Amino acid sequence: MSRKRKLRFECTGCGGCCVGRPNSKLEYYVAVTPAERERIRKFLGVSPAWFRRRYLQRFDDGQHSLRWNGDRCVFLDGEKRCRIYPVRPTQCVTYPFWPEIVESRFGWRAEARHCEGINRGAAVPLVHVRRQLARQRRALKLSFK
Ligand code: SF4
Ligand code: SF4
Repeated sequence: MSRKRKLRFECTGCGGCCVGRPNSKLEYYVAVTPAERERIRKFLGVSPAWFRRRYLQRFDDGQHSLRWNGDRCVFLDGEKRCRIYPVRPTQCVTYPFWPEIVESRFGWRAEARHCEGINRGAAVPLVHVRRQLARQRRALKLSFK
């Protein structure tokens, strides 16, 4: 990431990033690495087979994702809270500091239409942004295993 501009972000907990966008043709996914899958499974206290069947999906290209339940992540509850928050995947922890969002002004601006925490609060230190980007890139690769 070469840009020097400051990015402001403060999550409001609205739950908007855990649901699909109306009229979007995008295929939503929440990438999960093998270690994350095991951590979530243990947190839920369910068997590997049950976890796979109920909460996981594998795309044709081999990537693993949490299941998408209608228009939302399977773990988003009725109060718009994450049921696995302490063990949520890296993709959720690092949002909105994903390469496709922060690496261009357009990406950040476009994402701000969907996340009310973007451009809110104090500027996030660049070192934190870079760390999140690196974590997200690593996690995406591992989610194919
Ligand atoms: S959409 Fe943005 S503000 Fe809302 S919960 Fe997600 S990260 Fe936080
Ligand atoms: S795991 Fe939790 S934080 Fe991540 S998309 Fe699902 S409900 Fe949202």
